[in-house]
Amino acid sequence: SVAYFNGRFVDSRDPVVPIDERGHQFGDGVYEVIRIYNNKPFMLEEHLDRLYMSAEAIALPFREARESFKAVIFELISRSNLTDLDVYVQITRGMAARNHLFPDCPVSISMTAKPFRSISAELREKGAKTILHPDERWTNCYIKSLNLLPNILAKQKAHEQGCLEAILHRDGKITEGTSSNVFVVKGGRVQTTPLSRHILAGITRMAVQRVAAELGVDFQEKYVDLQELYEADELFITSTTSEIMPVVQVDGKTIGIGEPGPVTRLLQKHYKKRTEGVSGE
Ligand code: PMP
Repeated sequence: SVAYFNGRFVDSRDPVVPIDERGHQFGDGVYEVIRIYNNKPFMLEEHLDRLYMSAEAIALPFREARESFKAVIFELISRSNLTDLDVYVQITRGMAARNHLFPDCPVSISMTAKPFRSISAELREKGAKTILHPDERWTNCYIKSLNLLPNILAKQKAHEQGCLEAILHRDGKITEGTSSNVFVVKGGRVQTTPLSRHILAGITRMAVQRVAAELGVDFQEKYVDLQELYEADELFITSTTSEIMPVVQVDGKTIGIGEPGPVTRLLQKHYKKRTEGVSGE
């Protein structure tokens, strides 16, 4: 599949990244995953806003003008010959002999274009199982940094227990998933963790908030504790690639009636319309 590295379009299997690259050696960079539906990037401006913000937050001098950067993304999409794809974008502090101190060199920009990583229709229909896991990450999770070790370890643990995702908690409250935001439905009201340094401001979370407003569904930012999680009527997680995914089990305990609930279904239906460009966005 097609990829991009510092001004060149390459094959994603080509060995274009040198050993002395700070993404490789330190995870010293930030990234985004953008989904393209029917040739149209979904919420591209929001993803770019977050990318520039993340770069700024780690003092990464990513000065690429937004329009020329977008032009590269669009060229990658075009060269992919795909209509429905996921674009991965990564900016690192560049290539320099290994030294913790910031180097004096240009940043590295890489991108890949891959067909949708599709989630089985069956899982989406039945709802996913999850585990609970302590949130062992640093306190700047609002930055979409390349450093994902705690996320990887927790997600792997979930996988080994036959689960899709690990729901993380800190000080007795839910923060988010390892690669998703977490939502509880209680009494018809949709609740999710308030934005803070402890979670990523998910773009899909933002879309759900907009959809809820459109539908007149009550949306509330609230710290949810473990008891409230277990007692939820419905539970779902969101991300760019998993969209709105119903959750029916946490640590072996059934949530609600054990199948995707009506509020989740309604939000899913309207989210899908947005991705199809029917409403909003
Ligand atoms: N939280 C974390 C930790 C994530 O990695 C992701 C996926 N990027 C999300 C939330 C969801 O974000 P988005 O909806 O922007 O994909």
